[in-house]
Amino acid sequence: MAKISEIFGVNVFNDDVMKERLPKETYKQVQLTIQTGKRLNDEAARIVANAMKDWAIEKGATHFTHWFQPMTGVTAEKHDSFISPVDSGNVIMEFSGKELVRGEPDASSFPSGGLRATFEARGYTAWDPTSYAFIKDNVLCIPTAFCSYGGEALDKKTPLLRSMDALNREGLRITKLFGLDDVKRIVTSVGPEQEYFLIDKSVYNQRQDLVYTGRTVFGAKPVKGQELDDHYFGTIKPRVKAFMSDLDEELWKMGVLAKTEHNEVAPAQHELAPIYTTGNLAADHNQLMMETMQKVASRHGMVCLLHEKPFAGVNGSGKHNNWSIGTDTGLNFLDPGETPAENAIFLLTLCAVIQAVDDYQDMLRISVASPGNDHRLGANEAPPAIVSIFLGTELEEILDAIESGTAYVGQERELLKIGVHALPRFARDTTDRNRTSPFAFTGNKFEFRMPGSSASISGVNVVLNTAVAESLRQYADELEGSEDFESDLQALIRRVIHDHKRIIFNGNGYTDEWVEEAGRRGLLNLRTTPEALPYYVSDKNVALFTRHKVYTRAEMEARYEIHLEHYCKVLNIEALTMIDMSRRHILPAVSKYIHELSDTALAVQSLTTSAVCAFEQEQIAEMSGLLSDAFRKTKNLDAALFGAKSVSGSQELADYYRDRVFTAMQELRISVDTLETMTPSDVWPFPSYGELLFSVK
Ligand code: ADP
Ligand code: MG
Repeated sequence: MAKISEIFGVNVFNDDVMKERLPKETYKQVQLTIQTGKRLNDEAARIVANAMKDWAIEKGATHFTHWFQPMTGVTAEKHDSFISPVDSGNVIMEFSGKELVRGEPDASSFPSGGLRATFEARGYTAWDPTSYAFIKDNVLCIPTAFCSYGGEALDKKTPLLRSMDALNREGLRITKLFGLDDVKRIVTSVGPEQEYFLIDKSVYNQRQDLVYTGRTVFGAKPVKGQELDDHYFGTIKPRVKAFMSDLDEELWKMGVLAKTEHNEVAPAQHELAPIYTTGNLAADHNQLMMETMQKVASRHGMVCLLHEKPFAGVNGSGKHNNWSIGTDTGLNFLDPGETPAENAIFLLTLCAVIQAVDDYQDMLRISVASPGNDHRLGANEAPPAIVSIFLGTELEEILDAIESGTAYVGQERELLKIGVHALPRFARDTTDRNRTSPFAFTGNKFEFRMPGSSASISGVNVVLNTAVAESLRQYADELEGSEDFESDLQALIRRVIHDHKRIIFNGNGYTDEWVEEAGRRGLLNLRTTPEALPYYVSDKNVALFTRHKVYTRAEMEARYEIHLEHYCKVLNIEALTMIDMSRRHILPAVSKYIHELSDTALAVQSLTTSAVCAFEQEQIAEMSGLLSDAFRKTKNLDAALFGAKSVSGSQELADYYRDRVFTAMQELRISVDTLETMTPSDVWPFPSYGELLFSVK
């Protein structure tokens, strides 16, 4: 394998390339656009486009595409070649400034939640110069935002960029208060850890449910699961190792900072963590990462499963969103520093996050709500559906001391004065010590552990950025006119701790006691997607996002609608898949097997004097009973689906799918999974969990 330094970023039109290939003046203009969002003028755009095209063609690219993230959750692209005909009957390679800056994909089929009337169905894509262009499979990809002609966001990138602006605006007011006048920009850093499963392609192809829905809708527990914990951080199998090296190399070429790879808890489960980068880039890179994983896996004869819960009874997959906030000068606000001033910023930011998470628990919950993630949250292996913050006991004790005005143990009798005294040293919990917490402070960042493995990280970061921007806005409003900054700051921090400490919980989030305790504290416990989604359009949340110009009310209503629709569609496909697998494969296979058993029983009876064939008779009786159950439950599921046709209203329909369709699915699964344990493996029409989970040798 080539040296990392030789291949890293070779397919990225990054700062170095721009510096080398653009005239000085144009380079400066691009920098200004990147830093301030100021529009690039037509002439500069033309020069950049031309340089980009020459560079891409030298690297073997033949096409270009505006690469964007519509509300489907995957990235979209439409390839255009650089070829342009000339009079002589020949072609030349062309790429204009206009083509760089703006595109018009025929995108009428992307979900818009009613935002885009069909007569103006196309929408347009607009270049995002803050994310570098890159080459993927001989295509120059230009990261873009996707909007309607009315300017409404139809994608996941636009609100993310807006939320970063909001945080920048409010954050700069805070740095000013602390006299940090050299700060030009507030930046968020994000490092998303990505979990996934790898299984062999041959077994995957035999599982209709995996192919259609990404998860197994049937499947009895394997004889060996994850109970021995022998897979976690275990030796990586050679085939997986080869996949990982190949994946790293592909990602590095595209400038993705893939860093650590290891096995996860479940058999066949793995994790890839990148080195953190700015929020916008991290979101783009995570999309690229998911796409590349699937592509490389396929090359290695495997399939990469990104679904949150491919296998029942086996750990699901998540995506830990590590997030911190700081400045372009390199200061991380969440890093408790050595000096009283640094500590003051740290404490204020800590408060901003605590308040944000408390005030907008509902939006954080919604940002991770999906039918796939519903299988995970609240099950005893993933964070609970209740949002709470883990700080570690020592940091919590410090906050307690600040709030109550008592001396922190270890401080010499003196009260801790913010901005005057340094923080007492506390052990930074940089480990995953409390894995049950959905939102954990890990030393110099927060780790949000609820996101599902298949989701874009844009949504969670939009909520985090905007909610924290709102806390900071309130603090700046309060402190800007202050006559006695230190004591007002102290008072503010004490008040925020007092008002929002209910969201802090250091204990075990998997227990029933916590569910009760959280109820007493008034924390939300939104168990399912349909239960969470209505909060999207509550007055409080609309006020937040419109105030910070991240979403308009219309955009929020549209997104609410899109999420509801998505939920129903996914459940509908899953239910249809179950019915098909049951009717056309499982029921006939079991029936045939029962027939075989009866033949055997008859033959044995005719040859012996014994009237009893214990095995056959009991097996026939038991299996016939289960077969009838499964048949009846398949019909029930069918009827439940049919009933959905007469439900009106999107919210009502989502509720119906959860209460009726999903319940019928679970019922059917119980009978079918029991049948599977009684049926010989060569008769059962689908590979078993054991065969799937241990398919990669
Ligand atoms: P682990 O969670 O496995 O102990 P780390 O905490 O070192 O590993 O890192 C997990 C992820 O958090 C990585 O993607 C890493 O780059 C990212 N990360 C580390 N520091 C920060 C930070 N200050 N802000 C945002 N992300 C960070
Ligand atoms: Mg971690």
